[in-house]
Amino acid sequence: MAPVERITMGFDHFKKEIYEKKPDLFNELADGQSPKFMVFACSDSRVCPSVVLNFQPGEAFTVRNIANIVPPYDKTKYAGAGAAVEYAVLNLKVENIVVIGHSRCGGIKGLMSIKDDGSTTTDFIEEWMKIGWPAREKVLASFTDLPFLDQCTLCEKEAVNVSIENLKTYPFVKEGLEKGTLALNGAHYDFVTGNFETWDA
Ligand SMILES: [Zn+2]
Repeated sequence: MAPVERITMGFDHFKKEIYEKKPDLFNELADGQSPKFMVFACSDSRVCPSVVLNFQPGEAFTVRNIANIVPPYDKTKYAGAGAAVEYAVLNLKVENIVVIGHSRCGGIKGLMSIKDDGSTTTDFIEEWMKIGWPAREKVLASFTDLPFLDQCTLCEKEAVNVSIENLKTYPFVKEGLEKGTLALNGAHYDFVTGNFETWDA
């Protein structure tokens, strides 16, 4: 099937099965969105949070990038992520930010595969993944003898924790946490075993 045909067919299905069956929802959404969640998920085609967590339109303000990384507050290097967090917290007033890692994450595998001297060969990927460097360090320091794949699994979860700590570098996130209007959660979706795990941050 041609790509455009595939997406046209996909939309036809959505329109018939969802859009036309929920006129009230879509009328309401025409006036605005007030999602309770902001979600950071990986761009990996296997882990779409709307599919996995059954989020309906209007429920989750979502950022997807390589390895669901939240970079630290930095106006010049990470304006894209910063703008999304700022908008979610200050304008949409989301109640919860969830960072969802996942099994067999290629980004995390890449992070664990960067040479110890930190030298890189890609234009963007490795520099981006280096945001998660503290997770890699932690895993390599404590689980030296584990097989590489197990180290990657641990790193998938530790990288989520690094992202959660990075979220706290945004002043508006910090303020929300102090006031109790915002909560942060870590999560890990394992599509090999079919498990979903969450933890408080
Ligand atoms: Zn991934």
